[in-house]
Amino acid sequence: MNNLYFDSAATTQVRSEVIEKMQEALSQFYGNPSSTHSFGRSAKSLIERARKTIAKQLNAQPSEIIFTSGGTEADNMILRCAVRDLGVKTIITAKTEHHAVLHTAEQLEKEYGITVKFVVLDPDGTPNLEYLEHLLKQGDEKKLVSLMHVNNEIGNLLPVEEVASICKANDALFHSDTVQSIGHFEWDVQKTPIDFMTAAAHKFHGPKGVGFAYIRKDSGLKPLIFGGEQERGFRAGTEPMHNIVGLEEAFVQGYSKMTEERAYVSDLKRYFIQEFSKAFPEGVFNGASGDMEKSTYTLVNVGLPISEEKAQILLFHLDINGVACSKGSACQSGSTGASHVLSAFMSSEALKRPALRFSFSHYNTKEEIDQVIRILSDFAKS
Ligand code: PMP
Repeated sequence: MNNLYFDSAATTQVRSEVIEKMQEALSQFYGNPSSTHSFGRSAKSLIERARKTIAKQLNAQPSEIIFTSGGTEADNMILRCAVRDLGVKTIITAKTEHHAVLHTAEQLEKEYGITVKFVVLDPDGTPNLEYLEHLLKQGDEKKLVSLMHVNNEIGNLLPVEEVASICKANDALFHSDTVQSIGHFEWDVQKTPIDFMTAAAHKFHGPKGVGFAYIRKDSGLKPLIFGGEQERGFRAGTEPMHNIVGLEEAFVQGYSKMTEERAYVSDLKRYFIQEFSKAFPEGVFNGASGDMEKSTYTLVNVGLPISEEKAQILLFHLDINGVACSKGSACQSGSTGASHVLSAFMSSEALKRPALRFSFSHYNTKEEIDQVIRILSDFAKS
């Protein structure tokens, strides 16, 4: 059985250094961080160290980092609190966002009667910034823009500096779901003035069930989860400190190795593009994912020139051959199974091609890519 793991955008393998730190935390620092005795104090100091480490890397202040259970909670928290506490009446987002943003905005529309507006997308699925400006200039109610930095399905990169300055110029709040970005791209919240960001450790070789929200100081957001005074009063509940320690270690490892790992993984992506194009001259790269400049180095989303009938068993075939990747769209149930992301900008004809997302990390190799392409092309020919 092969072990061809190409699904790091869904979740990553945990680094061994992270596992070691987490084991140490679980076995030695088991005190409740809110207890005042030495066991509690040492657990608390590890959490505060993690907060400082993250803040320093992002050029933020420690008080601006709030630990959460992951990306979904952080996205929910920020959107919900911005509407409840800051008088946001319009959320401007894109149909290509993650459901953690889209479903939350939809819910807020029902609960608070706010308006949700969608930016027009360019042909490759990237939000059109002229249209964003146009939406921002309509009406003078308080607006929140929520646009992700790296799209989790098609990998498109948002020009965040530009969006941040457009938001600033129009007095709008800016949230970016940076779940696929943090740990893979450098961030400086002073250079890119942003109000809110979200992250999840399991997307950058840390544990599952932990992430953080970056909430700009003096933003005026109030607590969402009540109880104790944890997370600076913002999010009550005993912190999963082993997870937070794991998140910190994943963060430290990721940023210290970023240059070399980025070069290595970019090379893998380039190789995949080259070999896939050779094997499938009629295959396509969905969104901007075939463009190294406009998309993240960590993933591609391909459209395969195979029949709908074959598409039905494609994922199953890959799975039994030990290939782990994600469905991009139609391979689940023919042309009707397209994901909300691809359906948002692709024609119905283009959506007929079964789409697959392959995502890469430092543990993948070119030999593995050769094997995957061979499995795919044997399947297409069979
Ligand atoms: N946003 C994006 C862009 C994601 O890729 C994910 C994970 N699929 C999430 C949010 C949700 O993160 P989590 O699984 O940590 O809740």
